[in-house]
Amino acid sequence: MSTTESYRVVLPESRIPTSWYNILADFPVALPPVLHPGTHQPIGPADLAPLFPMELIKQEVSSERYIPIPEGVRDIYRLWRPTPLIRAVRLEKALDTPAHIYYKNESVSPSGSHKLNTAEPQAYYNKQEGVQSISTETGAGQWGCALAIAGDMFKIAIDIYMVKISYQQKPYRRSIMQAFGATVTPSPSDRTAAGRMILERNPESTGSLGMAISEAVEVAATSGGATKYSIGSCLNHVLLHQTVIGEEALDAMAEIGEYPDVVIGCVGGGSNFGGIALPFLHRTLTEGVKTKFLAIEPSSCPTLTKGAYTYDFGDTAGLTPLIKMYTLGHDFVPASIHAGGLRYHGMSPIISTLVNAGYIEPRAYGQNQCFEAAIMFARNEGIIPAPESSHAIRAAIDEALAAKERDEKKVILFNLSGHGHFDMSAYDAYLAGQLADNGFSAEEMAKSLATLPNVNA
Ligand SMILES: *Cc1c(COP(=O)(O)O)cnc(C)c1O
Repeated sequence: MSTTESYRVVLPESRIPTSWYNILADFPVALPPVLHPGTHQPIGPADLAPLFPMELIKQEVSSERYIPIPEGVRDIYRLWRPTPLIRAVRLEKALDTPAHIYYKNESVSPSGSHKLNTAEPQAYYNKQEGVQSISTETGAGQWGCALAIAGDMFKIAIDIYMVKISYQQKPYRRSIMQAFGATVTPSPSDRTAAGRMILERNPESTGSLGMAISEAVEVAATSGGATKYSIGSCLNHVLLHQTVIGEEALDAMAEIGEYPDVVIGCVGGGSNFGGIALPFLHRTLTEGVKTKFLAIEPSSCPTLTKGAYTYDFGDTAGLTPLIKMYTLGHDFVPASIHAGGLRYHGMSPIISTLVNAGYIEPRAYGQNQCFEAAIMFARNEGIIPAPESSHAIRAAIDEALAAKERDEKKVILFNLSGHGHFDMSAYDAYLAGQLADNGFSAEEMAKSLATLPNVNA
């Protein structure tokens, strides 16, 4: 590589996107309607009004191609955006591959992950509409931290239900949320009917994301409008906000003069993957540009590769609308792998539909092979990745090795969704050879899928 080529492209502040890209304007197939949990009829904006501010509901169902980013949000994006696009030259050399590997570094945000990209606009719209507080759930704490920071910036109270096992075992992210003034409650809790019901069935429950969602949704739904609910992934408006990642990546790749043959992201609920992939998929859909899109999940929570594509609830107690998505069943409690952000039974309906229609290829990896990739990445690029992001790195390395095998100069782009500075106990376990590889039980999934709501759509 000559010294005139770029290793690292950081666009100026003026190139922070002015709009988010809405894939629904170009959707190649029909997106199945979201159904009311009682009537099984398609829901409308009025059904969502108790939970979300109207501007976010409009975005959820909008078919406008570009949705302007409010100046108040763009102003805050300036704190860390545009994020760098980096060519992993040392990793390429270590792999001895002809492939070019690029990554978008979302770990540079104040919260350490991509989640602040949507936390800021969500807090902004709630504030604009006079909402007093926002309830939400968090697993390992990435989303809770992001929303706590955003809530503090816009002076709106944040009420967080944190999966109990993480609350007990991962105190640092809880401390961050509290430092920004958020209230953090271990879930399941006795503060809600849903939490009390779960505790009655199993007093020892260590919680799950699905349970924490039930609690946070209930708090908003019963608040008479003072509290709204916010979610960190999965829904259309969340993926919309995350498209700033892919739009900047498109812009920076054009600056370099390359275009990815493969775009890769890890998937929990699908938001950072959607964020980087959808603006590139726009080119595929409208100009026929050929790109492979790889969505990577843990083999212990294999929603896309082993789950059913069907209507299910987003939460454990069955309070949310019914969403057609890949799911392991809303009762499914995934094994406690270290990539906490990838432990969710469901998946974004946008990503689910695109996988089902063949536009996105899903792949699952065990956690040991991901930590191996993470260490290799760290020792060449100097960044400890989040265990979630290590799934994308594993796939990028495998694609680069396949390119070497075929002697092809592939261009690979992946999203580094966050850093792993609060996940060092997971690295300790990996380095000590103490990580279990697969906790997935097909029987447990089948049991959980048997309780799915009976909807004929
Ligand atoms: C939450 C999280 C994820 C998974 O969530 P998505 O909505 O699928 O992006 C991935 N990486 C990091 C660092 C996270 O915090």
